[in-house]
Amino acid sequence: MLAKFRPTWMIESIFHVSPQFLLENNINCVLTDLDNTLVPWNSKKGSAELRSWLHEVKKYGIQVIVVSNNSHRRIKAAVQDYELPFVPRAMKPLTIGIRHALRQFNLDKQSTVMIGDQLLTDVVAANSCHVKSILVKPLVSNDAWNTTLNRYFEKVIWNKLIKKYPNLHWE
Ligand SMILES: [Mg+2]
Repeated sequence: MLAKFRPTWMIESIFHVSPQFLLENNINCVLTDLDNTLVPWNSKKGSAELRSWLHEVKKYGIQVIVVSNNSHRRIKAAVQDYELPFVPRAMKPLTIGIRHALRQFNLDKQSTVMIGDQLLTDVVAANSCHVKSILVKPLVSNDAWNTTLNRYFEKVIWNKLIKKYPNLHWE
């Protein structure tokens, strides 16, 4: 039961996920959440940090695709300056969006990772698809109203998770 909430890795921020780390783990495609992973949930634009991270990973031939529960309109506004493909209304924790991305972009599960800031949506969806995952800390500490309740349950699960898997740690 708890295993489905367990991320493969935990890294402070997506911007700390280096191309070297990905390639060492045979990963050539990053599926990423949008809100509070790539950009703050209440922001329309990315940052210079996002731009340079994308530049760096793409240089190594690593593909980046946004898989978000948010709307086409919201995602497009946030990523249009970065030439990022995206799958909207992914319905995480369901597997619909990730499976759609795997199919549409002809990805190999084994060499794909899902990065996101929520155990209850991003990590569960990845685990249900047997895709590796990286949990990151949210970019800003507050959340959209519909995430607040998730955060409460996340805390409960988190406490159980670290008890059961004492090796889990932030890298
Ligand atoms: Mg998020």
